[in-house]
Order: sequence, then C-alpha cells, then structure tokens
Amino acid sequence: MILSLTACSNREKMENNDSIFTKGDLVPAENFTGSAWNKVLVANDTVYNVITGKVYFEPGARTNWHSHPSGQILLIIDGEGFHQIRGEAKQLLEKGDVVKCPPNVTHWHGASASKAMSQMYIVPNTENGIVNWMEPVSDEQYQSEN
Ligand code: MN
Repeated sequence: MILSLTACSNREKMENNDSIFTKGDLVPAENFTGSAWNKVLVANDTVYNVITGKVYFEPGARTNWHSHPSGQILLIIDGEGFHQIRGEAKQLLEKGDVVKCPPNVTHWHGASASKAMSQMYIVPNTENGIVNWMEPVSDEQYQSEN
C-alpha cells in the first residue's frame, strides 16, 4: 500500500511502529507528569525476580524523580526523550539507545517536549524492591539542560 504514511501524525506512526506490544494501561497520575501507558510483559515472581515491560510516553510526559534498589535497564524502541540522573546533565534518548540506570540513583525518564517515546524497561533483582517514588519533575527542571 502506498497510502498515507504522510497523512499519519507522528503519534499514529509511533503507535504503529511499536504495535508488536499493546499500549497497556494509563499510568498512575501521582507518579508521572502527563500521560503515559505501561504494558507489563513479564510480571514479577520469585523465580526470575525481574519485571519487564514497555512504557509509551506522550510528548512532554515523564516519570517523577525515583530510584530502583537494584537499578534498571532502558531500551529505547521509538521516538525521542530524556534520562537524567539527579545533579547531572540531561541525556538525550533516541530509538536504539540503551541506558543502564545504577542502583539507588535518583533519576527520571520520559518523552521530549515535541516527540513521544517508547521504552522497554527491565527491573532486575526485584527481591530488593522495585521503585521508590519521589516528587514530580517540575517544568523548570524538565526544560533545563542540567
Ligand atoms: Mn526508572
């Protein structure tokens, strides 16, 4: 079909590109700014002690500041976004990027202001805990380079 890729919005293309997995459920507003959808693909259990899934962040959407007791691995599968460790410069994320977020390090991740982002996440060693949520990333922090 030669049809209408050009007629698709970026958001429609995004959803088509990562449609190998379903969109999942809207994330809880108390832990995120903006709208994002989480699809858990491997639920936590005591055999594997790992959680794997996908989050689709709309443009401007991001996590609160948070940390993971055993760290987290992010695999960026579409779009554009950021990862920032508290006190360090924002890191641009693009499709194909892989990020290792160290254990117990406060950080956030999410979409850029103009483009959505889809990330796969892996949270290992969940016997130590999964995530410790903190305060929202303010608009000022989000727009700052560092
Ligand atoms: Mn994280």
